[in-house]
Amino acid sequence: MSKKSFDHIYMHLAADLAARSHCVRAQVGAVLTKDTRIISIGYNGPPPGTHNCDEEWPEKGCDRDSRGSCSLALHAEENAILYASKNGSKIEGSTLYTTLSPCIACARLILSSGIKKVLYMDSYAEYKGLPSDEGVDFLRRFGVEVNKYQIEVN
Ligand SMILES: [Zn+2]
Ligand SMILES: [Zn+2]
Repeated sequence: MSKKSFDHIYMHLAADLAARSHCVRAQVGAVLTKDTRIISIGYNGPPPGTHNCDEEWPEKGCDRDSRGSCSLALHAEENAILYASKNGSKIEGSTLYTTLSPCIACARLILSSGIKKVLYMDSYAEYKGLPSDEGVDFLRRFGVEVNKYQIEVN
C-alpha cells in the first residue's frame, strides 16, 4: 500500500475540521502548514464566546453575508491565520489547505500574510455556476500558487 501524501493528509484533516463548524449554512475547514508541519488549523465560526449558530438558529441559520455564508463567522482561513499570528508562528512561505476556494477578503489576507501556496477542495464558483473564483484569480494574479486538490486514487 502506498503512503499517503501530505496533501492528502492535510486536506482530509481540513475536511474533518469543517465538520466541527457550528455554522448552519456553510462548513469550511483549513490547515496551515510550513515545511510539511502544521502551524495552525481553523474552521469557520463566530469569535469564541459569541454565537453558536446551529444552537441559536437551528432551522434558518444565522443571517447571510453576500456570499451566502454566516455573517457572524470568521472564515476558516481567517481563523487559521489569526491563530498562527497570535502565537507568533512565521506564516511567510507557508501552505494553506482549505475545503472551499477562498473568498476575496480571505484572499487579501492570505496574500498579505505571505502564504505562498493554496490548495482547495471545492470551488465556490463551480458550486454557484460563476465563471471564476475571484479569490483564486486575485491570488494567482499576485503570484500565489493556487490549485484545486485532486483526489488521489491509489
Ligand atoms: Zn453562522
Ligand atoms: Zn473567506
